[in-house]
Amino acid sequence: MKVKKIYEGVYLIDGKLATLNLAPGFKVYGEKLIKIKGKEYRIWNPFRSKLGAAIKKGMDPKLKKDYEVLYLGAASGTTASHVSDICRDGMVYCVEISPRVFRDLVKVCERRMNMIPILADANKCDYPFVGKVDYVYQDIAQPNQIEILIKNCEAYAPKYAMLALKARSIDVTRKPVEIFKEAERELKERFELIDKRRLEPFHKDHMMFLLRWA
Ligand code: SAM
Repeated sequence: MKVKKIYEGVYLIDGKLATLNLAPGFKVYGEKLIKIKGKEYRIWNPFRSKLGAAIKKGMDPKLKKDYEVLYLGAASGTTASHVSDICRDGMVYCVEISPRVFRDLVKVCERRMNMIPILADANKCDYPFVGKVDYVYQDIAQPNQIEILIKNCEAYAPKYAMLALKARSIDVTRKPVEIFKEAERELKERFELIDKRRLEPFHKDHMMFLLRWA
């Protein structure tokens, strides 16, 4: 099998996206594990992860091995676990509001020294033990998604931010294209836009924005 590194910590194995498993032998969401030359990789399913989809669509996520990432809307840790594989010498602070999925998130974090679960509302921007971070990743699917992102960037001063915007969470009655244009205008008032990608065919009516915090 052929392994090709495409970005820091991100690989293609026979065309499939993968990360190096930081917790060898453990799966997070039923993903395939593959051993090649003594290293274990986890196949990253872009249909289960918007970050995976954005990378598949050509986006360089600009994550680094030693980055501290504030991850808002971690759910049960599917995507956050791949971020933990990439930022293996850094830290991933996983914020989640739902106690039900938080229980599964805690189990994932127990296997990974660089993932910390935080049961909190991202609207409040108040997380114990979190100082300045390098990166804010936000996948919260709430009508005030942009406001939440800006508030958290003001509080935690990252270099980069990534936003998975779900058009239908903002307004179900309007065309996604219009919502994305308006969101881009709003984001450009506070961020420098580095890249954006529609996430079809993996996720319908979603846009991923990669931003530099100005
Ligand atoms: N990012 C996850 C992944 O790719 O594995 C999926 C996230 S899911 C689309 C959105 C998550 O955001 C849900 O688990 C939801 O409970 C959480 N959420 C919604 N509002 C929130 C808030 N105000 N603060 C923190 N988490 C929130």
